[in-house]
Amino acid sequence: MDYQGLLYDVRDSARRAPARGRAADYIPALAAADPDAFGMALATVDGQVFGVGDWERPFSIQSVSKLFTLALALAEGGDELWRGVGREPSGNPFNSLVQLESEHGIPRNPFINAGAVVVTDRLLELTGDAAGAVRDFLRAESGNPDVATDAAVAASEADHGHRNAALAHFIAGYGNLRNPVDDVLAHYYAHCAIAAGCRDLALAGLFLARHGTRADGSRLLTRSEAKRINAVLLTCGTYDAAGDFAYRVGLPGKSGVGGGVLAVLPGRGTVCVWSPGLDTAGNSVLGVAALDALTTLTGWSVF
Ligand code: GLU
Repeated sequence: MDYQGLLYDVRDSARRAPARGRAADYIPALAAADPDAFGMALATVDGQVFGVGDWERPFSIQSVSKLFTLALALAEGGDELWRGVGREPSGNPFNSLVQLESEHGIPRNPFINAGAVVVTDRLLELTGDAAGAVRDFLRAESGNPDVATDAAVAASEADHGHRNAALAHFIAGYGNLRNPVDDVLAHYYAHCAIAAGCRDLALAGLFLARHGTRADGSRLLTRSEAKRINAVLLTCGTYDAAGDFAYRVGLPGKSGVGGGVLAVLPGRGTVCVWSPGLDTAGNSVLGVAALDALTTLTGWSVF
């Protein structure tokens, strides 16, 4: 398949989308994102990578990092993780507190903020440096040593992080954090504030397309664990719009409020797209439009 020609067609098609959305502004450092930016990268399981637009330009990966924290926590600690976090869609916004009380401090899934705080806590316990583990994994899989936390974005998140602090303290109140709240939040902000490009993320996500195998051929996850992560991505990876994403795109994927979306076709490859304008659920408007066009043109789908 002519993937490079395909990406040009997909970009042109996405740019015709009638709306662009708005960049996230509840983290002030993200509000300055270039509203016209658009990049897309496609990587295949044999390591080829194609790109269009701003595909090498770093952006704030935000919740796309939660895919990697989950994979690393499972790789390091195994299924014990699931005692502290569930696997069901929440049906509520990503930063909601409402279910935590009735569910006794066990967040619904690893991709809402509450769940990601628990996963970050476990990864911190297992490695001593949760954000560093995510950063090092991204560097290793992408081959890009410049992948790093943007300290200004992390500080902006911390300065405006009252909801995340409330979530973390609430979870700690139920005994479901093993590290001090402030340490967990610092690592959570630091991995959300990692800056990386579509190229980097498409390559770093390939382990999920390779059924758990890393770029160097070593195994991060069993085939079964990789399948399970893809399943949770499909059902919970795109906020409270995972049903619509599955309908339009038909691939497991994780989005972030920086405007990035990373999607996986097991056995074939990954696609990462970035454009900062978000819809009301928090997903990139042009990003989802581009993935919709790409999967329609190629037939890439898990269905
Ligand atoms: N760091 C962001 C927050 O905690 C991540 C949100 C997201 O991308 O979903 O609010």
